[in-house]
Parts: sequence; structure tokens; C-alpha cells
Amino acid sequence: MLPTLVLVGRPNVGKSTLFNRLTRSRDALVADQPGLTRDRHYGRGRVGERPYLVVDTGGLEPVAKDGIMFEMARQSRQAVDEADVVLFLVDGRAGCTPQDLIIATQLRKTGKPILLLVNKAEGMARARVTAEFFELGLGEPYPISSAHGDNVVEVIEIALENFPEEIVEEDAVVEDKPPKLAIVGRPNVGKSTLVNAILGEQRVIAFDQPGTTRDSIYIDFERDGKQYTIIDTAGVRRRGKVEEAIEKFSVIKTMQAIEDANVVVLVVDARDQITEQDAHVADFVLQAGRALVLAVNKWDGLDNHQREMVKSDIERKLHFLGFAKRHYISALNGNGISNVLKSADDAYAAAMSKMSTPKLTRALLGATEKQAPPKVGRFLPKMRYAHQGGSNPPLIVIHGSGLDNIPASYARYLERSFAEIFKLEGTPLKIQFNSSK
Ligand code: GDP
Ligand code: GDP
Repeated sequence: MLPTLVLVGRPNVGKSTLFNRLTRSRDALVADQPGLTRDRHYGRGRVGERPYLVVDTGGLEPVAKDGIMFEMARQSRQAVDEADVVLFLVDGRAGCTPQDLIIATQLRKTGKPILLLVNKAEGMARARVTAEFFELGLGEPYPISSAHGDNVVEVIEIALENFPEEIVEEDAVVEDKPPKLAIVGRPNVGKSTLVNAILGEQRVIAFDQPGTTRDSIYIDFERDGKQYTIIDTAGVRRRGKVEEAIEKFSVIKTMQAIEDANVVVLVVDARDQITEQDAHVADFVLQAGRALVLAVNKWDGLDNHQREMVKSDIERKLHFLGFAKRHYISALNGNGISNVLKSADDAYAAAMSKMSTPKLTRALLGATEKQAPPKVGRFLPKMRYAHQGGSNPPLIVIHGSGLDNIPASYARYLERSFAEIFKLEGTPLKIQFNSSK
């Protein structure tokens, strides 16, 4: 499990600025899809080789309209409860406010490790900017500047210092292990119904008990002679028969499940609009580079007009998921379930595919012949060969000269060409340019 940092603070202290700095992707090509949600709240960051998850509570729920009394919204409170470390931001220019005191009191009650970060401290003397925040009773305040980056890496290192340094190798997928499928989605889309439908007639080999609410349940099962593990974020097998399905949706559980999966099945609800929460989960799948199947559930009983509306809503709001296969299913009636599993198998195979240098190079040269890369300034980029630098998701490294500023649109063109030639449906692709001088 990756350590999870949760950003808390009243509006305007700089949470989203800090969040953006922490999650700024190195794999810009995966992230820079047009139409991708701009205001992110779930992300993954890295200091050195250490990955971590980060949640910006600022966007999880709207703050009370009157805005005078800050009441930490339910989802934010839950994220704090599930955090490994809380990063509490205050504004060094505005000074300590009554709202800061209220939040500090609430945070202290949680017993969570808290780092107090005094933001907007660029160009200010440390002692001066931090002095008044000692009264929050949260220990030493650390001055930072989210906008300029001052001291940011240092405080993240402090936040992570009590976690075992686990170097996660992105490629460390053991190939003969059963694929892990995470069933994710916002509350009420039908995740539990889907998990039950999948497991219904199958042989359940084993399932584990969750530790805390932020833990998913892992269920091993067999279908058509093949083994799988389902990562059940809805906690189906935990719910008692009588006990109503109390909402246990957790942002952090969802992120951890996506991180740990080989393939994500993202469930959305055809009876409802695609919401921001759907888009945030989808965005995180992309950040994590996971293979994906989109299951549009509750397809039963909709008329043609409604179905068209749903499809266009999905294409508009989730069109950055173009690589993922869509299935229109009814978990309730059991329709479409096998197709979802079949696509999950295919997506997994695509994510793990091995592509030889000669084949990749042929595909590259074919694509550049059809459409040459645009000039970058005075330079005509020259692409010479391609090799595979990793899998899950596949990484294609392109070698040549003048490749430093290839426009994202051209990189996406190459991505589409490779995806088509190598039949990579279901997995995102990473492309990296390696320019020799
Ligand atoms: P949030 O509401 O807590 O997410 O705050 P934002 O990240 O939206 O930032 C609020 C305002 O503070 C914006 O105008 C930012 O440009 C500004 N801001 C954020 N970080 C810094 C900083 O480190 N220094 C300064 N001077 N301004 C900052
Ligand atoms: P979860 O919160 O995502 O686990 O959602 P549940 O599986 O608990 O389902 C939420 C509600 O949607 C329940 O009332 C289900 O009976 C209903 N539901 C789930 N799948 C379908 C479906 O395929 N069609 C219809 N019409 N309702 C469904």
C-alpha cells in the first residue's frame, strides 16, 4: 500500500496549487490528453523513487454556502480518517484565522499525524512567518511556497519518513499470477451487484477479510478454467443480509485498489449523468496507467433515445478514455458480464504485450511516412527507431534527433498508430522521446 497524504485547509490557502505541484506528471503524454479534467483531486506523486498518493479535500465536496463556519464535509472527514499523514495548509500572508483554529481542533481529535504547512512563505523570514501558528497546537509549522516550490520536497520527505522505503518497480508483474481486477466506481452505480453477478456461478476459491474501511476485499475465483482475483471496493461479502448497504465509498480505497490492479473495471450508471466523481476516478486510472474496461451499468429498461443520450454524455465527459472498451450491461439481469471479463482479459494481455524492436521500428516508420512530424522551430525532428521500455502500461521509447519538443497532438497520433497495429485495446500507452544530440 502506498502512503497517502491528505491536504486540508480553508479555501484559498493554496491546496490545489500544492496538489498540482506534487502530482505534476513525469509521464506528461499519458496525462496531457485533451479534455482531461483540469481540477484534479486524486493524484499520485513521487519523491525520488518513492511513490505516494495524495488527495486534495478542497474539491471533494462544496464548502457550506455561507462560508463563515467551515464544516469539514463528510467525504473530507473520511479522507482524513483514512490518511496516513494530514498536510494542514495555512496562509502565511493572511496569518492565523478563526477558521484555521476550528480546523486545527477537528484535526487534533482525529489523532492522525499532522504536518502544519505555512504556505505562501516565499521571501519571508522563517521565524516571522511561522510564529503565530504555534498557537494551533500542532507542533512546529513548516514554511513552504506551493507556487514557487520552496521547501516542498523537504516537507514531503518528512511526511514520508516513517514509512518503509518500498521501491515499487512499475514492471514487477509476475506473469503467471492471476490478473487482479479492481471493480471501482462511485456509490450506487452497481459495483456490488456486478461483483455478485461475476461470482454468482463461479467457484470462489478464497476471500479475505478487510482490515479497515480503507481496505478492499480480495476474492480469488475461477471461471472457464482461468483464475482471477477481484478487488472488491464495495465490500460485498462483508455486508450482512439484513444490514443495509451503508455507503462505504472511499476515495483512498478506490485509489489503492486501482494502484494494485492489473485491470480496472470502471462502473458508471446509465440512469444518471456522468458526474465529476466519475471523471476523477477515471482520471486517476489514467494517471496510474492501468488497463481499463468501462462498464456502463443499468442498461436494462432504457429506450433508444435514453441510450443515445447516455452514450453521448460518456463520449463528451470521458472521451480521454478512448483506449478503453465500453460495455453496456445489466449487472442486475446478468447481461454483458462475460463480455466485461473477456475485455478485461484482452486489456491485460495488451498491457503486458511484448513488442520487438524491428516491429516497433517498422510501425514507427510507417506512421511517420504517412504523416511526418511537424518542424520544431528550425529543426526537422528525425525518428530513427523505437524499442519497448516497459509494460503495464506499455512504454514505447522513440529514438532520433530533434525530438525534444514534439507536440502532444503528434505524440497522440503515434500512440493511436501503435495501438492499432499492435491491437492494444484496453491499455493506455506511454511514449517517450529519446533525442541524441
Ligand atoms: P485552495 O483553494 O486552497 O485550493 O487554493 P489555491 O491553490 O486555489 O490558491 C489560492 C490562491 O493562492 C491562488 O491565487 C494561488 O495562486 C495563490 N497561491 C497558492 N500558493 C501560493 C504561494 O506559495 N505563494 C503565493 N504568493 N501565492 C500562492
Ligand atoms: P454500489 O454502491 O456501487 O455497490 O451499488 P449496488 O450494487 O449496491 O447497487 C445500487 C442500486 O442499483 C441497487 O438498488 C441495485 O439493485 C441497483 N442496480 C444495480 N445494478 C443494476 C442494473 O443493472 N440495473 C438496474 N435497473 N438496477 C441496478
